[in-house]
Amino acid sequence: MNIVESKHFNGLRGTLEFDAPLAKHTSWRAGGGADIVYTPADRDDLAVFLRQLPIFEQVTPLGLGSNTLIRDGGVRGAVILMHDPGGALAVADGLVYAEAGVACPKLARFAAQHGCGEAEFLAGIPGTVGGALAMNAGCYGGETWSYVARMEVLQRDGTFAVRTPKDYSIGYRSVRRADGRAPGEVFTAAWFRFPVTDKGDARKKIRELLARRLATQPLELPNAGSVFRNPPGDHAARLIESVGLKGYAIGGARVSEKHANFIVNADRRATAADIEALIVHVQKIVAEKTGVNLEPEVKIIGEAAAA
Ligand SMILES: Cc1cc2nc3c(=O)[nH]c(=O)nc-3n(C[C@H](O)[C@H](O)[C@H](O)COP(=O)(O)OP(=O)(O)OC[C@H]3O[C@@H](n4cnc5c(N)ncnc54)[C@H](O)[C@@H]3O)c2cc1C
Repeated sequence: MNIVESKHFNGLRGTLEFDAPLAKHTSWRAGGGADIVYTPADRDDLAVFLRQLPIFEQVTPLGLGSNTLIRDGGVRGAVILMHDPGGALAVADGLVYAEAGVACPKLARFAAQHGCGEAEFLAGIPGTVGGALAMNAGCYGGETWSYVARMEVLQRDGTFAVRTPKDYSIGYRSVRRADGRAPGEVFTAAWFRFPVTDKGDARKKIRELLARRLATQPLELPNAGSVFRNPPGDHAARLIESVGLKGYAIGGARVSEKHANFIVNADRRATAADIEALIVHVQKIVAEKTGVNLEPEVKIIGEAAAA
């Protein structure tokens, strides 16, 4: 427990909780909570919260938690729950504007309805626009940052700034500031430039991509998508399968039988420690048997549970 209490805050319109669980806010449905959990009413309300949060408190934005493992001992400081089903979407001056809390599939459908192409890949990414910006999420040849024209961020002192791609160094599932630092700010909105397309073609492509996912990924079970980044010129799933780890389990966590780069929490009894132990085991066996060091794509945050 930390020393911040609700009396530190005035004029908030969102929901403020202390020592709150977060498992239901992650797609693995596992793991610990946070000292402070804030669900802002909107961008301005988040700014009001950050301005009053003591500066020594760490801030961790969480979108739909579809790429995050929160250790069982939880996260110190404040977690901001960014997912906002009512988040703004608009088209203006040839750009698609999306607030960070909008779910990626919703952005993909919105873009298709407005004849904006190449956003279809976002339809199968079960995170938020903010999470996609933070991860440079991508698939089937598309990557989030290929389409960013500019974006809005909220700095730790509660002031907004507008940035452009030249302020960042972007790579495969990697986003740093141009000087190499971690972004360290909350992404609150982005303007995307998508090429003009036929609306029907875009909708058809979305349907095709979703069907492909259903056929190849264990979407019916709690998971966090691909656990490991693909090493150059190879696929993590192929390597994991080649060393015989499909179906291997530790506690409630299991390497998916359907897609070896997915870890599933099939009966929802996995702890974050089970999942992390399985990640470490897979890395160890793959390194021993193939010489390849797999790097996690999922973000592992927080502290282990006290023994
Ligand atoms: C079934 C399934 C399929 C998937 N398929 C893909 C795929 O094809 N391609 C792919 O790239 N990923 C895929 N993923 C992983 C995941 O959906 C993406 O990484 C997604 O972009 C994460 O978004 P999120 O909102 O859930 O982020 P979270 O997991 O909530 O957060 C991820 C990281 O982003 C940071 N973050 C979140 N929101 C913000 C914000 N507003 N400002 C600043 N930082 C922020 C968090 O602090 C954390 O470090 C898949 C996941 C699942 C479960």
